[in-house]
Order: sequence, then C-alpha cells, then structure tokens
Amino acid sequence: MDLQALIKDIRQDILPFYDQGRVADYIPALASVPPHQFGWAIHTLDGQSHACGDADTPFSIQSISKAFMLAMTLQADGEALWRHVGKEPSGNPFNSLVQLEYEHGIPRNPFINAGALAVTDRAIRHFSDAHARLLSWLRLETGNAALSANEAIAASERAHGDRNAALAHFMKSYGNIEHEVGNVLDQYFHNCSIELSCRELARAGLFLANHGVSPLTGQRYLSRSQAKQVNAVMLTCGTYDAAGEFAYRVGLPVKSGVGGGLLAVIPGKMSLAVWSPQLDSRGNSVLGLEALDRFTTRTGLSIF
Ligand code: GLU
Repeated sequence: MDLQALIKDIRQDILPFYDQGRVADYIPALASVPPHQFGWAIHTLDGQSHACGDADTPFSIQSISKAFMLAMTLQADGEALWRHVGKEPSGNPFNSLVQLEYEHGIPRNPFINAGALAVTDRAIRHFSDAHARLLSWLRLETGNAALSANEAIAASERAHGDRNAALAHFMKSYGNIEHEVGNVLDQYFHNCSIELSCRELARAGLFLANHGVSPLTGQRYLSRSQAKQVNAVMLTCGTYDAAGEFAYRVGLPVKSGVGGGLLAVIPGKMSLAVWSPQLDSRGNSVLGLEALDRFTTRTGLSIF
C-alpha cells in the first residue's frame, strides 16, 4: 500500500472542509493561530515515515499530553492509579465540574481535565518534576533536544485557569489531590503547552502501537497489558464527548487536543498524527476527523 500517495490524496479529498470549524479561543495565545493549516505524519513499526502538508510545524499539543502523562504515571503507579481516577466515558464536556461532586471527587477518566489533574498529582508523587520528566521522554523519542513548553501559552493557561483551579481544589477537598494545588496546576498547564510537530508526535506515540515499547529507542514505557489499557481509554474517552462518533467513524484509539492535534494508534502497525487548528463544536479538529475517517475507511486498518 502506497501510504504517501494515500495521505496526499485524502488531503485533496477533504479540501471542502477547510473553512469549517473555529480555532480554540479560550486563551489569546491559541486564538491567534492561523486557521488554514493542515499537517499529517505517519510512522510505521517497520520504520517507514510519511508526511504531508504542515507536518513540521510545531503546535500546542494541549490534551494530547494527557495520554503521555497517563502512560508515564501508570508505569510508576500501577493499579493504584485507578483508585484516584476512573476509566469510564464521562459524556460531559472536558472541563465539567458536575460529576465530581456526586462521584466524591474521583474523576470519571484521565482525559477530562479533572482526571488529568488527578493523574498529574499522582505523577508528582513519583517524579516531583513530572513536567520535566515528560519533556525528557518526548525529547528522547522525537530526537528533538530543544523541545519545550511554550511559556506564553502556559502563562495564558494560568491566567485563564480558574475552572481548572476549581476542579483541583474541589478534588483536594475530597482528599484526591495530595500536593499543593498551584504546583499541580503549573505542571498540568506546562504539559498542555508543549509544542510538537505532527512528525514528532507520530514518533512519540509509536510505543502505544508497539505494546508499550518504543521501536525507535528500545525503551519500554508500559507493560503489554498497560499499553492495552491506555489504548482502550483513548478509544472510549480520548476525544471528549465525541468518543462514540470517533469509534464509529475512525475505529482507533485517538487522543485529541484543543490545539487541533490528534494522535491515533493502529496497534501492531503504526501511529498517525494529524493537526489542523479549526475545531468542531466538541473541541476536535474538523479536518483531523475527516482525514482519519477516510484513512481507516480506505485502508481497512482499524481495530474493528
Ligand atoms: N489546557 C486546556 C485546559 O485545561 C486543555 C484543553 C484540551 O486540550 O482539552 O482547559
């Protein structure tokens, strides 16, 4: 299969969708991203890499960082992690407060903001500077030693972070945040503000396609069973409250972010990173969903 020709062809196919959606505008640093950009990169386990469009342009990975943080923390914390965060879809927006109260401060899953904050708190227990640990992991896997968080975006996240602060304080009142809330928030905001290109993101996500081991560096990040668990949670919870639609149309574990990025995993085969900043009403990249839908439909490569 000529994957390079295929992704270029799909890129042409989705041109009619270029004007749909809106760039995230909850912080000025994201609202100013030029909307008409599209990048796509694929890395296969047998060493092929393919890319098209703006695949080398760094973008804010936002909630995609939650997938890496989950993996990093699950490896350190093991099953104990699941006492602090659930693994069920929430059916509510990513920053919702409502469920937390009637579920006693235990967030539904690691990919809503409350869940990611709880995971960050557990990560701090093991690594102290969990953000630095995540950065060095990503630097190793991408081969980009200069990779870092965008401080302007992190500052903007902090300045507009009242809801995340509310979630963290609320969980602390239930005893489900151990560390100082300011520290947890700061590390969470910095993780969201990491910038990667599609090419780099596809490389960094490869371990999820390879049962927890990076084929690039030989590092084992997760046990075989934990890699299955992370992929499963990505499938059921990774795309906000559109996980059902993604499962239906794409049929892969996917994690999205409001920067417009999507990381998709085909277990045993490859990882794919797509980025385009304009989002649909549920916070997922419009072009990203269209591209992945066509890719799995035309190749037959989905988990179903
Ligand atoms: N930094 C964003 C927030 O916490 C992440 C949003 C996202 O990508 O889902 O609100």
